Amino acid sequence: MEITSLADLLDVQDLDLQIDRLLEKRQSLPELAAYKAAHENEQALNAELDSAASELKVLELDFDKSEGELQILEIKLKEHETRLYAGGMSGRETEHMRLEVQSLKGQRDALEERVLVMLELLDPEREKVADLKARIAEIGVEKAAPEKRIKAEWKQIDGELARKEDRKKEALVPVPADLVEMYEKLRHSKEGVAIGRYEHGVCGGCHMALSPAEEVEALSAEIPRCVHCRRILVA
Ligand SMILES: [Zn+2]
Repeated sequence: MEITSLADLLDVQDLDLQIDRLLEKRQSLPELAAYKAAHENEQALNAELDSAASELKVLELDFDKSEGELQILEIKLKEHETRLYAGGMSGRETEHMRLEVQSLKGQRDALEERVLVMLELLDPEREKVADLKARIAEIGVEKAAPEKRIKAEWKQIDGELARKEDRKKEALVPVPADLVEMYEKLRHSKEGVAIGRYEHGVCGGCHMALSPAEEVEALSAEIPRCVHCRRILVA
């Protein structure tokens, strides 16, 4: 293995570690936690609003229907009363009409009672919906500032990431494919550090010393690896 390939791989790793740090920074912006908390809160409130709004709709439909029924009942009652007080009916007919008016009045009173109960339910439900809408709007305002900062920071980080990725691609050109594969596997299992410099008898990856015999063994391999941590060594 040519030493230049291994040295190039050190450059690649340096870029990879910078990319790792940028990705870490991207995911741990201080504004992100506040934004996420606000967003989750907003979603929960939106779910609450959906159910409150559909409950309100059912109540309003029921209320409108009862009001319509009440109007029809009032008209019918008025007609019957008009006929009753106009006179000109037989005793039996008058008695029948009187009973009819009485029954209609009973129905009207019961329906009025129901409408009143509905009104008592409607008001708090309307307030609940209005309150939820106001809270959601507040969160929207709360979210706007961190959202703006996050977008600006991400734009900058993504620009840097793209530049690093380009440089990594260039640095990878002279490195043989099988070495790249070994490097990627090791990076995955060795906390991002697949390759280290071998200086003064010490592995730059695990910082452990190699005995003279271990050094000879390690450095005579096609791809030198640390006997302790198996990372690739650049002597
Ligand atoms: Zn080592």
